Amino acid sequence: MNRQSKMIIVGGGFGGLCAAQALKSAPVEVTLIDRRNYHLFQPLLYQIATGSLSPGEIAAPLRSVLSRQENTRVLMGEVQDIDPVSKRVLLADGASLEYDSLIVAAGSQSFYYGHESWREWAPSLKSVEEATTIRHKILYAFEAAERISDPAKRPAWLTFVIVGAGPTGVELAGAIAEIARQTLKHDFRSIHPEEAQIILMDGAPRVLPPFPEDLAEKAARSLGKLGVQVKTGLMVKDIDKEGLTIQNHDGINRLEARTVIWAGGVTVFGVGKDSREAYECGDRQNRSN
Ligand SMILES: Cc1cc2nc3c(=O)[nH]c(=O)nc-3n(C[C@H](O)[C@H](O)[C@H](O)COP(=O)(O)OP(=O)(O)OC[C@H]3O[C@@H](n4cnc5c(N)ncnc54)[C@H](O)[C@@H]3O)c2cc1C
Repeated sequence: MNRQSKMIIVGGGFGGLCAAQALKSAPVEVTLIDRRNYHLFQPLLYQIATGSLSPGEIAAPLRSVLSRQENTRVLMGEVQDIDPVSKRVLLADGASLEYDSLIVAAGSQSFYYGHESWREWAPSLKSVEEATTIRHKILYAFEAAERISDPAKRPAWLTFVIVGAGPTGVELAGAIAEIARQTLKHDFRSIHPEEAQIILMDGAPRVLPPFPEDLAEKAARSLGKLGVQVKTGLMVKDIDKEGLTIQNHDGINRLEARTVIWAGGVTVFGVGKDSREAYECGDRQNRSN
């Protein structure tokens, strides 16, 4: 009897899940591996970060999504490496799985342009954990500002900076402005949340760089109406516990801000990078053999 062909899919995000579902009737044994046992609907992450949804509302267990698909099993595990020569996927816990064909759909992760230390002070918005960290930072900033006795120290707590004016940064800035101007407007006694500064910054000359110019202008106008200050054409030089150091046409400036959120860039997950390198290496090896 012929052995069923083994297909491994790494990642149960949009790409991996879609690939698994497309293989429903194919004569293959599909194994979908993800480090999390749920599919995360990332476009709604900023609503977790701003408290209007809870994590369970944007996460669906991969097992139940695929439970009726008999040729597919789901494994929770962290893929650490791929060996294209022996055709094995290597997991962080030491296990390894054999495949005939492989799909890597491991998504992306935030990229700090080599400044990994910024991650601690400026979380990004790629996972439920990061979204809840951001939610805590935003709400805690208002609480801290309310309790501070020296009014001169309040502005730094009431300054929210989002670095990166792509779609995530734009959405996040708008949502924080709505929280400050509407949701929390009547809830504090020592501070006026609606006076919070929400600053969206980018090195590019305008918001939403990959989008058509008229849409970017419209987005910038909407942000302005919400009270978001858009600062473009500047470079972040450093981020620390107290705020940011920025370079613009005036030179180097300091901005005190206790809440900084990174929406500045993404890169592929290590496994994608390594496997591409591994494939290139395997390919070279195969060609030279
Ligand atoms: C805040 C935010 C808002 C967005 N809004 C929109 C929008 O409005 N419209 C739109 O079209 N797109 C939007 N996107 C982009 C969209 O979510 C992504 O393009 C999409 O999720 C990419 O799908 P993917 O399957 O490639 O990766 P992902 O959805 O990231 O899935 C990758 C999966 O691989 C798993 N994984 C990664 N590495 C490993 C490993 N080593 N081992 C095991 N598992 C691993 C992860 O756990 C994850 O489940 C948004 C993204 C974000 C972050």
